Amino acid sequence: MAHDIHIIGGGLAGSEAAWQLARRGYKVRLSEMRGGGDMTPAHQTDGLAELVCSNSFRSDDDEKNAVGLLHHEMRRLDSIVMQAGEVARVPAGSAMAVDRDIFSAEVQRALTEHPNITVVRERVDALPDSGPTIVATGPLTAQSLAESIVTATGSDRLAFFDAIAPIVHRDSIDMSKCWIQSRWNKRTEASNEDGDYINCPMTKEQYEAFHQGLIDGEKTEFREWEKDTPYFEGCMPIEVMAARGVETLRYGPMKGVGLDNPYDTTEEHPQGRWPYAVVQLRQDNKLGTLWNMVGFQTKLKYGAQIELFRTIPGLENAEFARLGGLHRNTFLNSPVVLDRQLRLNKAPHIRFAGQVTGCEGYVESAAVGLMAGMMAAEEMAGRDWTPLPRETAMGALLSHITGDADATHFQPMNVNFGLFPPFEERVHKKARKEAYTNRAKESFGRWLEGMERVPA
Ligand SMILES: Cc1cc2nc3c(=O)[nH]c(=O)nc-3n(C[C@H](O)[C@H](O)[C@H](O)COP(=O)(O)OP(=O)(O)OC[C@H]3O[C@@H](n4cnc5c(N)ncnc54)[C@H](O)[C@@H]3O)c2cc1C
Repeated sequence: MAHDIHIIGGGLAGSEAAWQLARRGYKVRLSEMRGGGDMTPAHQTDGLAELVCSNSFRSDDDEKNAVGLLHHEMRRLDSIVMQAGEVARVPAGSAMAVDRDIFSAEVQRALTEHPNITVVRERVDALPDSGPTIVATGPLTAQSLAESIVTATGSDRLAFFDAIAPIVHRDSIDMSKCWIQSRWNKRTEASNEDGDYINCPMTKEQYEAFHQGLIDGEKTEFREWEKDTPYFEGCMPIEVMAARGVETLRYGPMKGVGLDNPYDTTEEHPQGRWPYAVVQLRQDNKLGTLWNMVGFQTKLKYGAQIELFRTIPGLENAEFARLGGLHRNTFLNSPVVLDRQLRLNKAPHIRFAGQVTGCEGYVESAAVGLMAGMMAAEEMAGRDWTPLPRETAMGALLSHITGDADATHFQPMNVNFGLFPPFEERVHKKARKEAYTNRAKESFGRWLEGMERVPA
């Protein structure tokens, strides 16, 4: 079958993109290397849309949770991932969990039975020179294709250990204990007026207890195949640094020099003394709602992270938009190399979708695949794409990866309310999550009405 568009990668994003295009009447060639003699180090089967680790699509609460809201929007767009998820659903409280084999089989059935989709079990080794293409090869993109992407984008490398440091919601930080200042008050043109870092000071006792907590905390182990991948820019998990000696962090990411603690003033230091140690947070998005714990990439287990990081002064009630982690990943510096419609700036016939664009998570990857499929369909129909409003979950995620994130420190991101534009009027904290979802649903409904409805 001659095809209108080539999709590379039959994971969550590629499968969803194929479905969206096929439903709109476009003929799709879907190339998946598993089943054609190749495998990734994490996949176990040849099935399309295989879930490589947990079986959870996380919260299904579309009233108070950002990923639940993403489920809602995807359902409204007839997502195959959400439909197959319903078929494969297993009990998991307010979360949506699935039987991974049934889920994958259901996606595969829907795609292979669709007359507009041809699934070809083949590895693609280079980006096509022409013709509409969607690349959705995921965090474990095969080496040859990764090299071709590196050449096309001009990046120096694509696969590395993802140094994920935790991200904290700004409004959960207790600013009566922390202050904003850049070390030595250094400024650049892009600096905020007061400084660029939130500083959480620690006394000697607090630091020593914290250091011990890092040493004792439960860690996740590297898998065998992860052992050969280099760290990204020499980044080191914080607990590995801590294990080198009690002072190592005080000369590294936790050094207090050049920071004047306004809560610790003396006659000699009216501006404030330098803290014994400090935890710094750096703004992570343009909205200023999310702050990244600088240098805190970690392999501590999630429960251990929450417990330990909430002992940091000012973070006692911290809410984490994302916790730290370290695993092999492959992703583009999307804010720089992609346009707002996920097209490669240097080769706009190629779109990217899924985790390789710098989103994080099964649902997010599928959502970006869904958007890429819709965008490609609109383009092939000769219509202008109507941008998704920023207040929607899909719009917020897309805005983040295609431009709003800080490109110099770009890291994969889960959907969360910190990516949504804040309210202009004051909304009480308790009512905020519901207010976000109400606003998003209204906005999404208007956007959907404006789009041409597609017959199922
Ligand atoms: C080890 C690991 C564990 C993870 N655990 C979770 C988790 O528990 N929960 C969660 O929400 N997210 C998790 N993620 C993150 C992410 O959500 C998943 O990786 C998700 O599957 C990404 O979807 P995707 O469609 O972008 O990529 P994938 O689902 O990986 O799909 C990409 C597809 O492309 C194929 N492919 C690769 N290169 C080529 C090529 N050159 N030619 C043809 N086909 C190719 C692959 O075989 C694969 O089928 C994990 C990631 C990793 C690496």
